[in-house]
Amino acid sequence: MLMDATTFSVEFKVFDEQIKAEIPLSAEPIRSIELLPILQQLSDSFVEFSIKKINQDGKSITCKSGCAACCRQLVRITESESYLLYELIETMPKKRRNAIWQRFDDAIEILEELGLIEPLEDINDMSSEENQDLDEKYFNLKIPCPFLEKETCSIYHNRPLACREYLVTSSADNCSNPFQETIERVPLAGGISVVAAQIDEPLHSGYVRYVPLILAPILAEESPDESQVRIASEMLTVMFERLRTTAI
Ligand code: SF4
Repeated sequence: MLMDATTFSVEFKVFDEQIKAEIPLSAEPIRSIELLPILQQLSDSFVEFSIKKINQDGKSITCKSGCAACCRQLVRITESESYLLYELIETMPKKRRNAIWQRFDDAIEILEELGLIEPLEDINDMSSEENQDLDEKYFNLKIPCPFLEKETCSIYHNRPLACREYLVTSSADNCSNPFQETIERVPLAGGISVVAAQIDEPLHSGYVRYVPLILAPILAEESPDESQVRIASEMLTVMFERLRTTAI
């Protein structure tokens, strides 16, 4: 039960079905990072809904434990998620925290040597072709995500929205080359990972901004979260308006 709670009611259509949701929210103004648990739940619900749909079509998810090819991709997250990852690392026991930071440092050393830091910092200003080129260069380096341990996500319950929403029905072997046409991604009823960035848009003068996961905690450490508190229901309204135009 939330203190000073309110309920956000929303209705929208996905896969030709009318969905109604009642989302309990804080009535007090909050920072966008505090909205993340709700976005994670929404993302999980949309994924579950999408999986049911593909199962009805006779398909099933082929992602399985131990296959972490997608954890070597260039993952784009929202700015508030970058602060969440930073806070997660900083609250880990010292040994584990040092190990994670070391993995980030090792990855950044490789990226620096190859001159890829600047393009990674510029992903929001690049064309989709340039972004795709960067995706391919990055994936070819096979740099594991610093949170990947024994081919499993070590922050599973806090993993970014983009990680929650990357699921395939094609053979897991095909993921060794995620840029080929043989990859069949699960069509999501609602891509919260995409529309969640809209929430922070007003903080950047109407500019939607994503952060590469591999730089996220370091950028968060360099620029502490100074986002203003805002009314949660207003933030969700912005996001759902965008979702209505993108949901399938
Ligand atoms: S956060 Fe977890 S799921 Fe996402 S890329 Fe890293 S290891 Fe994989």
